[in-house]
Amino acid sequence: MESKIEKRLIWLNGKLCSADEAKILVLSPTSQFGLNVFEGIPCFWNDKKQQLFAFRLDDHYKRLLNSAKMLGLDHQYSLDYLKNEFKRTILANGYKENLIVRQTIFVDGFGSWSSCDPCGMFISPIPKRFTSSEYNQKGLNCCVSSFRRISEDCMSPKIKCGANYINSRNGQREAIKNGFDTCIFLNSKGTVSEGPGSCLFIVKGNKLITPSLTDSILESITRDTVFLLAKTLGVECIERSIDRSELYNCDGAFLCGSSMGITRIESIDKFVVPGSPIIVSLSDLYKKVVLGEEKEFLHLLTPIY
Ligand code: PMP
Repeated sequence: MESKIEKRLIWLNGKLCSADEAKILVLSPTSQFGLNVFEGIPCFWNDKKQQLFAFRLDDHYKRLLNSAKMLGLDHQYSLDYLKNEFKRTILANGYKENLIVRQTIFVDGFGSWSSCDPCGMFISPIPKRFTSSEYNQKGLNCCVSSFRRISEDCMSPKIKCGANYINSRNGQREAIKNGFDTCIFLNSKGTVSEGPGSCLFIVKGNKLITPSLTDSILESITRDTVFLLAKTLGVECIERSIDRSELYNCDGAFLCGSSMGITRIESIDKFVVPGSPIIVSLSDLYKKVVLGEEKEFLHLLTPIY
Protein backbone atom coordinates (compact mmCIF):
# COMPACT_ATOMS: atom_id res chain seq x y z
CA MET A 1 0.00 0.00 0.00
CA GLU A 2 1.62 3.25 -1.16
CA SER A 3 0.70 6.30 0.85
CA LYS A 4 1.79 9.91 1.13
CA ILE A 5 4.62 10.42 3.58
CA GLU A 6 2.43 12.68 5.77
CA LYS A 7 -0.17 9.94 6.18
CA ARG A 8 2.15 7.01 6.91
CA LEU A 9 1.48 5.48 10.29
CA ILE A 10 4.24 5.99 12.81
CA TRP A 11 4.40 4.37 16.22
CA LEU A 12 5.15 7.10 18.78
CA ASN A 13 5.23 6.39 22.52
CA GLY A 14 2.80 3.47 22.29
CA LYS A 15 0.31 4.98 19.82
CA LEU A 16 0.01 4.80 16.05
CA CYS A 17 -0.45 8.21 14.46
CA SER A 18 0.10 9.77 11.05
CA ALA A 19 3.58 11.15 10.34
CA ASP A 20 2.33 14.74 10.36
CA GLU A 21 0.89 14.23 13.87
CA ALA A 22 4.04 12.62 15.31
CA LYS A 23 5.63 15.52 17.19
CA ILE A 24 8.64 15.74 19.51
CA LEU A 25 9.35 18.54 22.01
CA VAL A 26 11.80 21.09 20.56
CA LEU A 27 13.60 21.45 23.91
CA SER A 28 14.13 17.70 24.35
CA PRO A 29 17.75 16.45 24.51
CA THR A 30 17.15 14.42 21.34
CA SER A 31 16.13 17.56 19.50
CA GLN A 32 18.92 19.71 20.91
CA PHE A 33 21.85 17.29 21.11
CA GLY A 34 21.01 14.24 19.01
CA LEU A 35 20.58 12.23 22.22
CA ASN A 36 19.00 9.10 20.78
CA VAL A 37 19.93 5.58 19.72
CA PHE A 38 18.52 4.07 16.57
CA GLU A 39 18.45 1.25 14.06
CA GLY A 40 17.57 1.05 10.39
CA ILE A 41 15.93 -2.36 10.09
CA PRO A 42 15.59 -3.65 6.52
CA CYS A 43 12.52 -5.56 5.33
CA PHE A 44 12.34 -7.21 1.92
CA TRP A 45 9.16 -7.88 -0.03
CA ASN A 46 9.02 -11.21 -1.86
CA ASP A 47 6.28 -10.84 -4.45
CA LYS A 48 6.23 -14.53 -5.37
CA LYS A 49 5.73 -15.59 -1.75
CA GLN A 50 3.56 -12.52 -0.97
CA GLN A 51 5.63 -12.10 2.15
CA LEU A 52 7.60 -9.30 3.79
CA PHE A 53 10.73 -10.47 5.60
CA ALA A 54 12.46 -8.45 8.33
CA PHE A 55 16.16 -9.23 8.20
CA ARG A 56 17.97 -10.15 11.43
CA LEU A 57 15.36 -8.46 13.61
CA ASP A 58 16.70 -9.84 16.90
CA ASP A 59 20.23 -8.68 16.08
CA HIS A 60 19.06 -5.16 15.28
CA TYR A 61 17.06 -4.91 18.51
CA LYS A 62 19.91 -6.36 20.57
CA ARG A 63 22.25 -3.72 19.15
CA LEU A 64 19.66 -1.01 19.86
CA LEU A 65 19.38 -2.11 23.49
CA ASN A 66 23.16 -2.26 23.75
CA SER A 67 23.52 1.26 22.37
CA ALA A 68 20.91 2.46 24.91
CA LYS A 69 22.83 0.70 27.69
CA MET A 70 26.16 2.23 26.69
CA LEU A 71 24.61 5.74 26.68
CA GLY A 72 22.91 5.05 30.03
CA LEU A 73 19.39 5.67 28.72
CA ASP A 74 16.75 4.83 31.30
CA HIS A 75 13.96 3.11 29.34
CA GLN A 76 11.48 0.27 29.85
CA TYR A 77 11.52 -1.46 26.47
CA SER A 78 12.10 -5.22 26.34
CA LEU A 79 13.20 -7.19 23.27
CA ASP A 80 9.80 -8.94 22.95
CA TYR A 81 7.86 -5.71 23.30
CA LEU A 82 10.01 -4.01 20.66
CA LYS A 83 9.60 -6.86 18.18
CA ASN A 84 5.81 -6.98 18.67
CA GLU A 85 5.36 -3.24 18.21
CA PHE A 86 7.63 -3.32 15.15
CA LYS A 87 5.36 -5.90 13.51
CA ARG A 88 2.22 -4.06 14.57
CA THR A 89 3.45 -0.84 12.93
CA ILE A 90 4.21 -2.48 9.60
CA LEU A 91 0.92 -4.40 9.63
CA ALA A 92 -1.01 -1.19 10.32
CA ASN A 93 0.53 0.36 7.19
CA GLY A 94 -0.05 -2.81 5.14
CA TYR A 95 3.26 -2.43 3.35
CA LYS A 96 4.07 -4.81 0.48
CA GLU A 97 7.41 -3.32 -0.61
CA ASN A 98 11.00 -3.06 0.55
CA LEU A 99 11.39 -0.97 3.71
CA ILE A 100 13.96 0.46 6.01
CA VAL A 101 12.34 0.78 9.40
CA ARG A 102 13.71 3.64 11.45
CA GLN A 103 13.55 2.61 15.09
CA THR A 104 14.64 5.22 17.60
CA ILE A 105 14.74 5.48 21.40
CA PHE A 106 15.22 9.12 22.36
CA VAL A 107 15.57 11.30 25.43
CA ASP A 108 12.47 13.42 25.74
CA GLY A 109 11.46 16.07 28.30
CA PHE A 110 13.09 19.34 29.37
CA GLY A 111 16.49 17.97 30.45
CA SER A 112 19.94 18.41 28.99
CA TRP A 113 22.68 16.38 27.30
CA SER A 114 23.40 14.51 30.53
CA SER A 115 19.76 13.39 31.07
CA CYS A 116 18.94 9.67 31.03
CA ASP A 117 15.14 10.00 30.99
CA PRO A 118 12.29 10.30 30.21
CA CYS A 119 12.76 8.07 27.18
CA GLY A 120 10.39 8.06 24.24
CA MET A 121 10.41 5.89 21.17
CA PHE A 122 9.23 5.91 17.59
CA ILE A 123 9.05 3.30 14.85
CA SER A 124 8.81 4.65 11.34
CA PRO A 125 8.81 2.37 8.28
CA ILE A 126 10.28 4.05 5.20
CA PRO A 127 9.45 2.50 1.80
CA LYS A 128 12.55 1.93 -0.33
CA ARG A 129 12.15 1.19 -4.02
CA PHE A 130 15.69 0.13 -4.88
CA THR A 131 18.72 -1.04 -2.97
CA SER A 132 21.96 0.92 -3.18
CA SER A 133 23.52 -1.80 -5.34
CA GLU A 134 20.63 -1.33 -7.80
CA TYR A 135 21.01 2.48 -7.78
CA ASN A 136 24.79 2.27 -8.08
CA GLN A 137 25.22 -0.63 -10.47
CA LYS A 138 28.44 0.77 -11.91
CA GLY A 139 29.95 1.07 -8.47
CA LEU A 140 30.83 3.85 -6.05
CA ASN A 141 33.58 6.40 -6.54
CA CYS A 142 35.07 6.84 -3.08
CA CYS A 143 37.70 9.05 -1.51
CA VAL A 144 39.62 8.61 1.71
CA SER A 145 38.20 11.25 4.04
CA SER A 146 40.34 14.00 5.53
CA PHE A 147 38.20 13.54 8.68
CA ARG A 148 39.21 10.69 11.00
CA ARG A 149 36.57 8.25 12.24
CA ILE A 150 35.44 8.81 15.84
CA SER A 151 37.17 6.45 18.25
CA GLU A 152 36.71 4.76 21.63
CA ASP A 153 38.63 7.53 23.38
CA CYS A 154 36.05 10.17 22.44
CA MET A 155 32.80 8.70 21.09
CA SER A 156 32.55 4.97 20.53
CA PRO A 157 31.62 4.17 16.93
CA LYS A 158 29.98 1.02 18.36
CA ILE A 159 27.14 3.10 19.79
CA LYS A 160 24.57 3.75 17.09
CA CYS A 161 23.45 7.16 18.33
CA GLY A 162 22.31 10.24 16.45
CA ALA A 163 25.22 12.43 17.57
CA ASN A 164 27.83 10.02 16.12
CA TYR A 165 26.48 10.72 12.65
CA ILE A 166 27.90 14.25 12.60
CA ASN A 167 31.25 12.54 11.94
CA SER A 168 29.62 10.61 9.06
CA ARG A 169 28.04 13.81 7.81
CA ASN A 170 31.39 15.62 7.71
CA GLY A 171 32.97 12.85 5.64
CA GLN A 172 30.00 12.47 3.29
CA ARG A 173 29.63 16.20 2.63
CA GLU A 174 33.32 16.58 1.92
CA ALA A 175 33.18 13.61 -0.49
CA ILE A 176 30.19 15.02 -2.41
CA LYS A 177 31.73 18.52 -2.53
CA ASN A 178 34.85 17.02 -4.12
CA GLY A 179 32.88 15.06 -6.73
CA PHE A 180 32.89 11.59 -5.09
CA ASP A 181 29.90 9.43 -4.18
CA THR A 182 31.03 8.70 -0.64
CA CYS A 183 34.08 8.34 1.58
CA ILE A 184 36.13 5.81 3.51
CA PHE A 185 37.37 6.92 6.93
CA LEU A 186 40.74 6.14 8.49
CA ASN A 187 40.75 5.70 12.27
CA SER A 188 42.94 7.52 14.79
CA LYS A 189 45.69 4.90 14.23
CA GLY A 190 45.68 5.81 10.54
CA THR A 191 44.37 2.47 9.31
CA VAL A 192 41.12 1.97 7.43
CA SER A 193 37.85 1.96 9.41
CA GLU A 194 34.54 2.18 7.50
CA GLY A 195 32.23 4.28 5.34
CA PRO A 196 29.90 6.94 6.78
CA GLY A 197 27.04 4.42 7.05
CA SER A 198 28.56 1.14 5.94
CA CYS A 199 31.40 -1.31 6.49
CA LEU A 200 34.19 -2.01 4.03
CA PHE A 201 35.62 -5.19 2.56
CA ILE A 202 38.46 -5.54 0.08
CA VAL A 203 39.31 -8.54 -2.07
CA LYS A 204 42.93 -9.71 -2.23
CA GLY A 205 43.53 -12.72 -4.45
CA ASN A 206 40.77 -15.14 -3.49
CA LYS A 207 40.32 -13.77 0.05
CA LEU A 208 38.16 -11.12 1.65
CA ILE A 209 39.66 -8.72 4.19
CA THR A 210 37.78 -6.34 6.47
CA PRO A 211 38.93 -4.08 9.34
CA SER A 212 38.65 -5.73 12.73
CA LEU A 213 36.14 -4.66 15.39
CA THR A 214 38.87 -2.69 17.19
CA ASP A 215 39.53 -0.51 14.12
CA SER A 216 36.77 2.03 14.99
CA ILE A 217 33.79 0.48 13.25
CA LEU A 218 30.17 -0.24 14.05
CA GLU A 219 29.49 -3.92 14.72
CA SER A 220 27.67 -4.16 11.44
CA ILE A 221 25.04 -6.85 10.98
CA THR A 222 25.63 -6.95 7.22
CA ARG A 223 29.36 -7.40 7.84
CA ASP A 224 28.49 -10.43 9.95
CA THR A 225 26.13 -11.67 7.21
CA VAL A 226 28.99 -11.39 4.70
CA PHE A 227 31.03 -13.73 6.93
CA LEU A 228 28.20 -16.29 6.81
CA LEU A 229 27.76 -15.98 3.05
CA ALA A 230 31.51 -16.14 2.37
CA LYS A 231 31.66 -19.37 4.36
CA THR A 232 28.91 -20.86 2.20
CA LEU A 233 30.80 -19.78 -0.93
CA GLY A 234 34.07 -21.22 0.41
CA VAL A 235 35.76 -17.80 0.48
CA GLU A 236 38.13 -17.09 3.35
CA CYS A 237 37.37 -13.90 5.31
CA ILE A 238 40.09 -12.19 7.35
CA GLU A 239 39.51 -9.53 10.02
CA ARG A 240 42.59 -7.35 10.40
CA SER A 241 43.75 -3.75 10.12
CA ILE A 242 43.98 -2.50 6.54
CA ASP A 243 46.54 0.08 5.41
CA ARG A 244 45.48 2.94 3.16
CA SER A 245 47.85 1.74 0.40
CA GLU A 246 46.07 -1.62 0.36
CA LEU A 247 42.93 0.19 -0.78
CA TYR A 248 44.74 1.39 -3.88
CA ASN A 249 46.09 -2.06 -4.76
CA CYS A 250 43.16 -4.33 -3.98
CA ASP A 251 41.48 -6.77 -6.38
CA GLY A 252 37.98 -5.57 -5.53
CA ALA A 253 36.15 -3.69 -2.80
CA PHE A 254 32.63 -3.11 -1.53
CA LEU A 255 30.70 -1.23 1.11
CA CYS A 256 27.90 -3.01 2.94
CA GLY A 257 25.10 -2.15 5.32
CA SER A 258 21.42 -2.70 5.99
CA SER A 259 20.44 0.14 3.71
CA MET A 260 23.24 -0.35 1.17
CA GLY A 261 23.18 -4.12 0.84
CA ILE A 262 26.42 -5.06 -0.89
CA THR A 263 27.53 -2.24 -3.20
CA ARG A 264 30.72 -2.51 -5.18
CA ILE A 265 33.34 0.22 -5.25
CA GLU A 266 34.57 1.40 -8.63
CA SER A 267 37.41 3.66 -7.53
CA ILE A 268 39.17 4.94 -4.41
CA ASP A 269 40.93 8.33 -4.65
CA LYS A 270 40.68 7.84 -8.44
CA PHE A 271 42.59 4.54 -8.35
CA VAL A 272 40.45 2.10 -10.34
CA VAL A 273 39.20 -0.84 -8.28
CA PRO A 274 38.67 -3.92 -10.45
CA GLY A 275 35.36 -5.79 -10.45
CA SER A 276 35.55 -9.13 -8.68
CA PRO A 277 33.59 -12.35 -9.28
CA ILE A 278 33.67 -12.91 -5.51
CA ILE A 279 31.66 -9.70 -4.98
CA VAL A 280 29.19 -10.67 -7.71
CA SER A 281 28.62 -14.09 -6.08
CA LEU A 282 28.27 -12.56 -2.61
CA SER A 283 25.85 -9.93 -3.80
CA ASP A 284 23.73 -12.48 -5.72
CA LEU A 285 23.57 -14.77 -2.70
CA TYR A 286 22.73 -11.85 -0.36
CA LYS A 287 19.78 -10.86 -2.56
CA LYS A 288 18.43 -14.43 -2.43
CA VAL A 289 18.99 -14.77 1.31
CA VAL A 290 17.07 -11.59 2.23
CA LEU A 291 14.14 -12.70 0.07
CA GLY A 292 13.88 -16.01 1.88
CA GLU A 293 15.03 -18.02 -1.11
CA GLU A 294 17.87 -19.86 0.64
CA LYS A 295 16.66 -22.53 3.09
CA GLU A 296 19.93 -22.54 5.00
CA PHE A 297 19.45 -18.87 5.98
CA LEU A 298 15.72 -18.75 6.72
CA HIS A 299 16.50 -18.47 10.43
CA LEU A 300 17.76 -14.91 9.79
CA LEU A 301 14.32 -13.78 8.63
CA THR A 302 11.13 -12.80 10.44
CA PRO A 303 8.00 -13.02 8.26
CA ILE A 304 5.67 -10.11 8.93
CA TYR A 305 2.47 -11.52 7.33
N1 PMP B 1 28.83 1.60 9.89
C1 PMP B 1 28.02 2.65 10.12
C2 PMP B 1 28.61 3.90 10.64
C3 PMP B 1 26.64 2.55 9.87
O1 PMP B 1 25.84 3.59 10.10
C4 PMP B 1 26.12 1.34 9.35
C5 PMP B 1 24.64 1.25 9.06
N2 PMP B 1 23.91 0.82 10.17
C6 PMP B 1 27.00 0.28 9.13
C7 PMP B 1 28.34 0.45 9.42
C8 PMP B 1 26.47 -1.03 8.66
O2 PMP B 1 25.80 -1.64 9.71
P1 PMP B 1 24.60 -2.67 9.44
O3 PMP B 1 25.15 -3.69 8.50
O4 PMP B 1 24.30 -3.23 10.75
O5 PMP B 1 23.51 -1.88 8.83
